[in-house]
Amino acid sequence: MRKPIIVANWKMNFLRDQADLFLQKLLARLGHNQTVEVGIAAQDLFLPDLIKIADDSPISIVAQNAHWENFGAFTGETSPKALANIGVDYVMLGHFERRELFNETNSTVNLKVRTALNDGLDVIVDVEEMEQVEPVLEGITEEQMKGIIIGFEPTFAIGTGMSASTKGAQDVAQQIRKTVRRLYGAPTAQAIRILYGGSVDRDNLADLIAQPDIDGSLVGRASLDFQTFWELVKIM
Ligand code: PGA
Repeated sequence: MRKPIIVANWKMNFLRDQADLFLQKLLARLGHNQTVEVGIAAQDLFLPDLIKIADDSPISIVAQNAHWENFGAFTGETSPKALANIGVDYVMLGHFERRELFNETNSTVNLKVRTALNDGLDVIVDVEEMEQVEPVLEGITEEQMKGIIIGFEPTFAIGTGMSASTKGAQDVAQQIRKTVRRLYGAPTAQAIRILYGGSVDRDNLADLIAQPDIDGSLVGRASLDFQTFWELVKIM
């Protein structure tokens, strides 16, 4: 059975105290609920605080990006090894905003995925369309696939309030699972978690996660208000 997961993608929002308080409230409500995995993707500056707060809890802390090298002359970049070293659980790579605003491509995303996995970070690799799945996974072994979650986020749905239709999202998730099966075989395809992201909210989450190939969600805007996000967690 694939464990459902909901990830709050806070993007470049909040100040430190707001981030800390949000997570404290979430922990208090969630307790030691093990039926759903909750991830918080925050900007790097907040990660050490959040890791401390989430220590020994079912909440996973997620970085929003990392470089494809671990050390060197890369001013302003974040090392995946340093993220692993401070206790980050996952790094999200290939988000649409990284591709659109910071010129990331399938090949840079693929380099990042490889390095992060080698450093012991699990990866949420985002794709906006089916065709990106194979190139971002190039060179990843069957064993390494255990550390991968695939996030499907159609461009038109990100931040627009216009989610993909339930059927449309399920169709693509099913195609993604088929691609994983072709590349890695049935056990890996059965085990891999596929998330839908793009204008997830209280009105559409239940239907989306009821789909057989959708194992969770990536939530941007609706993750910024505590009460709204908590309601989404309860739907999962
Ligand atoms: P949204 O963002 O929920 O605001 O559409 C989703 C995302 O970018 O991950």
